[in-house]
Amino acid sequence: MTDIAALIVAAGRGARAGGQPKQFRKVAGRSLLDWSVTALTQEAQIELVQIVLPAGEEIGFPPSSRIATPVEGGYTRQVSVRRGLEALANAQPDFVLIHDAARPAVSPGLIRRVIQALRDGADAAVPLLAVSDTLKRTGRDGWQTVPREGLHRAQTPQGFAFGKILKAHAHHRDRAVTDDMALAELAGLKIASVPGEELNVKVTTAEDFSVVERILSRPADIRTGMGYDAHRFAAGDHVCLAGLRIPHDRALEGHSDADVALHALTDAVLGALGAGDIGQHFPPTDARWRGAESSRFLAHAAALARDSGAEILHCDITIVCERPRIGPHREAMRNKIAEILAVEVGRVSVKATTTEGMGFTGRGEGMAAQAVATLRF
Ligand code: MG
Repeated sequence: MTDIAALIVAAGRGARAGGQPKQFRKVAGRSLLDWSVTALTQEAQIELVQIVLPAGEEIGFPPSSRIATPVEGGYTRQVSVRRGLEALANAQPDFVLIHDAARPAVSPGLIRRVIQALRDGADAAVPLLAVSDTLKRTGRDGWQTVPREGLHRAQTPQGFAFGKILKAHAHHRDRAVTDDMALAELAGLKIASVPGEELNVKVTTAEDFSVVERILSRPADIRTGMGYDAHRFAAGDHVCLAGLRIPHDRALEGHSDADVALHALTDAVLGALGAGDIGQHFPPTDARWRGAESSRFLAHAAALARDSGAEILHCDITIVCERPRIGPHREAMRNKIAEILAVEVGRVSVKATTTEGMGFTGRGEGMAAQAVATLRF
């Protein structure tokens, strides 16, 4: 049983001036379809990708184990989506993300927001952008200005509870719609919206191709931050480390829970953002943070990163102490940090070292931790 599947609609025949359908045209070295498939397969939560193609076409790049055999689309987008959903029915996914291949610049953050909205209980999740241009209707009756209040542009991927959208598609075959959310509306599903992105352009015109070429060929803006923290041992029966409570014959002293690993990592993320340090965001003089769980500090830094449009690519922490032993807790620590940062666990590394009896950690006076975090903007 699959938890989350993605359906990529690439069945259009639309070709300007008789060329190949646009989803097979290359921008920045790859086809629109390849870019879209790559964006969705890079999200670890998506286990299976179903592509819908025009009859007689092939995907044009090497398949991977997570890509199902493509199915043939129909005359309209709606028919193509329904065929794709029917092909996915055997895998019984809980959720499906339906994405147009013509949106090749979809970001990891947008994909995750859609998934999160579904996990939070929505039947359907749609990325929306408010309309900021003034709208004009022109026609036989002359010019009219259309109030833009409450108007939004809907993007893809749109996410759905699989069984419900499959049923809505089967039920409303005769209602022509231009996106799947319209069927969710007809079916009265519980719909949530998430912020869309201007860069998630739908490629339609020749001008769109040059816009998306510029977006996809921009050099990656990668930044690395580092953090260091140390806390003194005091009397106690456990230490808080990387978000876990670990039994020990001492405790770490500090204003918060004194979690050196999360403090170092929080500073590393803030460092990559150029956003100061943990003490500025959570002053020790502020009573609110007395005994606070340090996971809140790290979650705050991760939220700042997301708000800046940055993706946390990787983090690496080294915990420095003679005792307690870190090895037995390492995997649990990685999982906890991945959960706090909302990244896959493969992007989190936790290491430990002693200082062979030297220095304050060697003498058992306290613990220290170092961290680096790498972010892509
Ligand atoms: Mg600290």
